[in-house]
Amino acid sequence: MAERVIVVPERVIDTQRGESMHDRAVVVSGDRIEGIIAATDVPDGSRVIRLDGTTLLPGLMDAHSHLIGIQDTGQGYASLVTRTGAQEALTGVKNARDTLLAGFTSVRDVGTFRAFADVALRDAIEAGWVEGPRMLCAGAYVTCPGGGGDLTGLAPDVDAVVPRELRFGVTSGVDQMRTNVRQILRYGADFIKVLATGAVLTSGTNPGVPEFTEAELRAAVEECELAGTFVAAHAHGAEGIKRAVRAGVRSIEHGSLIDDEAIELMAEHGTYLVADMYDGDYMLEEGPALGYTEEVLAKTRLTNEAQREGFTKCVKAGVRIANGTDSGIAPHGWNARNLGFYVRFGLTPMQAIQSATRWTAELMRWEGRVGTIAPGLYADLIAVPGDPTDDVTLLQDVPFVMKGGQIVKGVGAP
Ligand SMILES: [Zn+2]
Repeated sequence: MAERVIVVPERVIDTQRGESMHDRAVVVSGDRIEGIIAATDVPDGSRVIRLDGTTLLPGLMDAHSHLIGIQDTGQGYASLVTRTGAQEALTGVKNARDTLLAGFTSVRDVGTFRAFADVALRDAIEAGWVEGPRMLCAGAYVTCPGGGGDLTGLAPDVDAVVPRELRFGVTSGVDQMRTNVRQILRYGADFIKVLATGAVLTSGTNPGVPEFTEAELRAAVEECELAGTFVAAHAHGAEGIKRAVRAGVRSIEHGSLIDDEAIELMAEHGTYLVADMYDGDYMLEEGPALGYTEEVLAKTRLTNEAQREGFTKCVKAGVRIANGTDSGIAPHGWNARNLGFYVRFGLTPMQAIQSATRWTAELMRWEGRVGTIAPGLYADLIAVPGDPTDDVTLLQDVPFVMKGGQIVKGVGAP
């Protein structure tokens, strides 16, 4: 018999309907949610965890994290050749723990330069060797040569001998796209991340400029569909966004320089927008001290304000939104700060909570596993004092975290 635990908070958030429920208790059996009962019906003799004055909600989700790697220094990715694959992988151990203890029980990890280090971390977490969130992994960056996901800035003779695992997804042309996507999925990725435009942090690339043809992007989508999965597209510039949406990607990451036509296309296609809204401020405030190059700072200034205007327009147009932070730019564990920006630029606090639970679960196709407090789903639960549907910043300090029925932080933790 699986152990039963009954959690009794002051209110429970129904992230599917966007409502708060009072006088409820959540019954956990083993690693799953058994059901929601009236708080007055808690049976005698059960193990009860009383969390007076708190709000209980599903564990938070981040659809755009990078758990592998040290914090970004904003000096370009050439420095990646100074660290081994083992060093890179072990950074993930710390980052995963910081993320989980902040109340983020699931992440979609959208890429690592050391191919498949994320897959190894995902498997170690699933095996119980390492504390961390559930992970859906991209495995590698699918990018054009010299593009937003490539290792740029090396001398040509060094450039020629970079190990393949640092460039696993570098792709040119439709045929190579098919080959690389198949291989990345075969080596353990759960979905594919493409860089449809240049990137802020990759030196020598321009966020406004498309880096794949629509035919290349469509080939990636087709290969993913054959494998039962999807493509997430990093895209800042409007043309890159449109190509990606028309090609059938599931989400646009960043979306900073979006235009009205692209917004309309996203609404029409049901494409998710995953907007990292806090990290731009972090980069402008902390970047100079961290040693960010002027190139990166200039690109941050170009994209930051524009992204906010675009986000507001997307919300008004009914574009699907999921929570994504680009954690690894700001420290891991600060993920909830993004939600304050979602509220500032268009969502209600309840919607911001839904974006970081149910809506991200739907984006990941995990709505049958996590993102809602409902029978049969994993018992991934967090509690915060007060009411985050009044003040979403309360989610920046989460004192109670349960993952799969195990209390990893707070009352009842080992
Ligand atoms: Zn990213």
